[in-house]
Amino acid sequence: MTLGFDYIGDALAVDGVSLADLAGEYGTPLYVYSAEVMRHNYRRIERAFAGADVMIAYSVKSNSNLAVLKVLKDLGAGFDIVSGGELIRTQRVGIPGERVIFAGVGKTEKEISDALDAGVSEFNVESEAEAERINAVAAARGERAPVAIRINPNIDAKTHKYITTGKRENKFGISMGRALELAGRTRTDLPNLDLIGIHCHIGSQILDSSIHPRVVEAVVDFARKVMDKTGQPLKTLNFGGGFGIAYEKGQTPLDLQPFADALLPRLAELKVKLLLEPGRSIAGPAGVLLTRVEYIKKGEERTFAIVDAAMTELLRPTLYEAHHEILPVHRNDRETGRMDVVGPVCETGDFLALDREGAIPHQGDLLAVMDAGAYGFVMSSTYNARPRPAEILIDGGKALLARRRETHEDLLRAEDEVFAAN
Ligand SMILES: *Cc1c(COP(=O)(O)O)cnc(C)c1O
Repeated sequence: MTLGFDYIGDALAVDGVSLADLAGEYGTPLYVYSAEVMRHNYRRIERAFAGADVMIAYSVKSNSNLAVLKVLKDLGAGFDIVSGGELIRTQRVGIPGERVIFAGVGKTEKEISDALDAGVSEFNVESEAEAERINAVAAARGERAPVAIRINPNIDAKTHKYITTGKRENKFGISMGRALELAGRTRTDLPNLDLIGIHCHIGSQILDSSIHPRVVEAVVDFARKVMDKTGQPLKTLNFGGGFGIAYEKGQTPLDLQPFADALLPRLAELKVKLLLEPGRSIAGPAGVLLTRVEYIKKGEERTFAIVDAAMTELLRPTLYEAHHEILPVHRNDRETGRMDVVGPVCETGDFLALDREGAIPHQGDLLAVMDAGAYGFVMSSTYNARPRPAEILIDGGKALLARRRETHEDLLRAEDEVFAAN
């Protein structure tokens, strides 16, 4: 079983708390996260890079619930954000700017000046145009902005095409040749940029442990060229996140050891601080989506379990053809067979699992969609006028309501305010 999740008797529990009890109290669909599993996952990364001067900057976009951010804050984590909205979330839980890194390809002027107000530790710059904009905003304020250039090393992360970011054809980062030119410009026509580092994140859900050592070679080699060109030392090397987790039986999470072995000696040579931006590997295995079976429908070809969660709660199966294990909350000896687990949303693409072998549930049964702690709730939508589910954080054997279930009033508010006046 996944760490933190196990059957007590026949009842699936998280850190000893019964999932059926939580569904009874808070309703379904329901997200449930284990703080302890997040801590464990964070410490695994910390241990792998022990001996380096490192900041593990949790990727806020993977799960941005305030209670989750607080757990990471208390561990001493840094935070990687990709929008002004995520900056506000870090501020809500009292995370200081020096523990925040600002990434993303489309930073607006307002986001840049808000991030300067907050004193973020680094802007990851993704294009020449963005470098020029950050330079202009900083100049208008009479400041210098700390920046790292995000390079695109053209290394294939061998993951799903929608979560590959380090290939030439992706929108992320700058090719090495142009990045070197841009680094030079920080000494001439971009004087309000303080070039402090190099950033590289080539994709998500990477499971092949030979990839990161290649990225290390590319980034270290490039960092040396930049220092030669500018005559200035760099302070940070940022390798992003992307550490893969085991979604399917038989998979193992990314082994970080080859990465650490390749990297640690180089960090010492270059005298730079290491930055990492893991999201999925911390939050993913720590969460489940609980859902109840509304109907069993026997089709001509296959059986459909129609559940009360949908692509609106968990988009990953639809968007990435992603696999999530689905477990019965009450272990049972129901007849097995092949089924599609689908939601009520009016889209053929609305499914949580296709052609899955397992115990065919009965109407009213609870199912747990595993490894849903990252890129789950944060990608939820209200399509079909569906209020978003509640989120629960389990910590120290206690359940904390981390977000209440949305109501129809919540969904209608922005329209109600103007509708009556029209
Ligand atoms: C999404 C993202 C991450 C986190 O990726 P995971 O696969 O969740 O670890 C880190 N850095 C950047 C720049 C990202 O866009």
